[in-house]
Amino acid sequence: MIEKKVPFTLQQINELTKKYPTPFYIYDEKAIVENVQKFIKAFSWAPDFKNYFAVKANPNPQIVKLLKNQGLGADCSSLAELLISEKIGITGENIMFTSNDTPANEFVKAKELGAIINLDDISHIDFLEKSAGIPELVCFRYNPGPLRAGNALIGNPEEAKYGFTRDQLFEGYDILKKKGVKRFGLHTMVASNELNPEYFIETGRMLFELAVEIKNKLNIKLEFVNLGGGIGIPYKPEQVAVDLEKVSNGIQAHYNNYIKTNNLDPLKIFFECGRVILGPYGYLVSRVLHKKNTYKNYIGLDSCMANLMRPALYGAYHHITVLGKDTNPLTNKYDVTGSLCENNDKFAVDRILPEIEINDTIVIHDAGAHGYAMGFNYNGKLRSAEFLMNKEGNFQIIRRAETMEDYFSTMIF
Ligand SMILES: *Cc1c(COP(=O)(O)O)cnc(C)c1O
Repeated sequence: MIEKKVPFTLQQINELTKKYPTPFYIYDEKAIVENVQKFIKAFSWAPDFKNYFAVKANPNPQIVKLLKNQGLGADCSSLAELLISEKIGITGENIMFTSNDTPANEFVKAKELGAIINLDDISHIDFLEKSAGIPELVCFRYNPGPLRAGNALIGNPEEAKYGFTRDQLFEGYDILKKKGVKRFGLHTMVASNELNPEYFIETGRMLFELAVEIKNKLNIKLEFVNLGGGIGIPYKPEQVAVDLEKVSNGIQAHYNNYIKTNNLDPLKIFFECGRVILGPYGYLVSRVLHKKNTYKNYIGLDSCMANLMRPALYGAYHHITVLGKDTNPLTNKYDVTGSLCENNDKFAVDRILPEIEINDTIVIHDAGAHGYAMGFNYNGKLRSAEFLMNKEGNFQIIRRAETMEDYFSTMIF
C-alpha cells in the first residue's frame, strides 16, 4: 500500500479560501518537474527522445509552458490545442498533431505551424493534400487490430476507430513516397491508463519490427516511432506505478535487436503521454456542504462531476483525503456526491473515511490529468479556478473561476 499524501496543509487552504472559494484545482510544480526529469532520464539512451505532452490532458497554458521548459513537446488533437501551443511558443516539430475525423482547417493550421502531422486514415492522404498540401514529414497511426489485445479503457484495437490497418500502412507509405515525401514516422496507441510495463515494451517491439519490414519492402527508413500515450498511474493505494526504467530497458533491448542489427540506427523514440506526466500531481479541493442520512450516508460537496468527470464516466477510483483528519480512524462509510441532477454524480461510493463534518475540506487525488480538462457546464455548473503551488509553497492562480457572466455570454434572450 502506498500512502497517498497531500503536499499542502489545511492551514494553507484556509488561507487561500479567504480570497478564493472552493472548489479549485491545485497542481504541485515541484513534483511535476521531478517526475518529468525522471521520465526523460530513464530514456537517456534513446536518440532524440521526446515526450509530446498530450495537451488534452491539461490544456492550462501555464502548465503546458512549465512542461515546455522541461523539454517536452505538445501533442495536439484539435485547433484549440494547436493555438494554445502556438501562443506559448511551441511550434514546428515540437508539435505532434495526432487527430482523428479531422476538419480541413485544423490540417491547415498544423501545416502552417510546421507540426508533425500524424494521419489517422489512408483516405486522409488525399484530404490533407487537397486541404493543406503534403508536408515533407508525415506520420501514420497504426492500429494492430487483432494482433494486439487492448485494455478496458481504450477497448479492443479491432473495435477502436483509430488508425490504419497493417496493409493500409504499407500502401500509404508507398503513396507518400510516390508523392515525393522524404521523411516518415510511425505511431500507435493501443492502451490507456495501462499499468503493465510489458505492454509498452511489446509496443516498442511491434513498432521496431514494422520499421524493419517497411525498410525491406519499401526501402523507407523511418525517422521516428511514437509509442503514444497511455502509461497508467496508480489511482488506488494498492496499485504500483509503472517502472519507467524497466520500460526503457525493455525497449532498449528490442531497439538493439531490431534497429541496430538492421542498420536502422538512429531511430528517434517518442511518446505522447499526458496522464503519467501530470495525473498524480493535481488535486481537486472541495468543501462539505451537506450531510444526509437516508438509505445510505451521503456527503455533499461544493464540487460535482462537472469539475471531475472520471468517477461518473468510468467508475474510476480517485482517492480522497479529509484534510487535517488524515490520521483519524476510518470509521464511516460514505457516498461522496456532487450536486448534479444525475445519480451517478458521485466521487466515491461506499468509501471508508474518517467521520466527516460540514465544512470539512475534501481533497480528491490524482486529478492532474483528464480532470479539469473534461469539465462541462451541465446544470449551469461553472468551471473552477486552478492554482500552481510553487517550490516555496506559494499558490499562483493560473486560471480564474468561470462566472455567471461567462455562462450567459453566449445566450440570446
Ligand atoms: C489521450 C491521448 C494521449 C494521452 O493519453 P494519456 O493516457 O494521458 O497518456 C496521447 N495520444 C493520443 C492520440 C491520445 O488520444
